[in-house]
Amino acid sequence: MGERGIQILKINVDQLLKILNKAFSDEWLAYYQYWIGSKVVKGPMKEAVIAELVQHAADELRHADMLSLRIVQLGGTPILRPEDWYKNTNCGYDAPEDPYVKNILDQNVKGERCAIDTYSDILDLTKDKDPVTYNLVLQILQDEVEHEEDLQALVEDYEMMMSKT
Ligand code: FE
Ligand code: FE
Ligand code: MG
Repeated sequence: MGERGIQILKINVDQLLKILNKAFSDEWLAYYQYWIGSKVVKGPMKEAVIAELVQHAADELRHADMLSLRIVQLGGTPILRPEDWYKNTNCGYDAPEDPYVKNILDQNVKGERCAIDTYSDILDLTKDKDPVTYNLVLQILQDEVEHEEDLQALVEDYEMMMSKT
């Protein structure tokens, strides 16, 4: 990384790289959870749910991209082996073994809540210490907050629909 760009950091770079690689692992697992969920989901409102899952999958992949660029910029290496995603993840991976819409929505709401907690912690940690990472994580957090709300809105629609039948 550029000399001055490193000098302005008021945080330990190795510690920061570890944290960013953990978030990077989360994003790949979240990406796959959404992507595979969009393929297998079944039940009422399927089309609306698929559209949202596909959108969120694309966002999570973009987050992985953003994190990998920052990791490289800081002189680190993004995790190279998928098996290491599991060892580093904060939020884990929920396989959509029950493909019913409500189950898939619930699993993903849970994932978004974990992502919000994770990024909110990274914001606290980088505040006034690494403005570049702070800004990047803030952008990601804004997306995760939107994701949670989108999914909760779908759960609400689902529940309204089910209560009428
Ligand atoms: Fe994300
Ligand atoms: Fe998300
Ligand atoms: Mg959305």
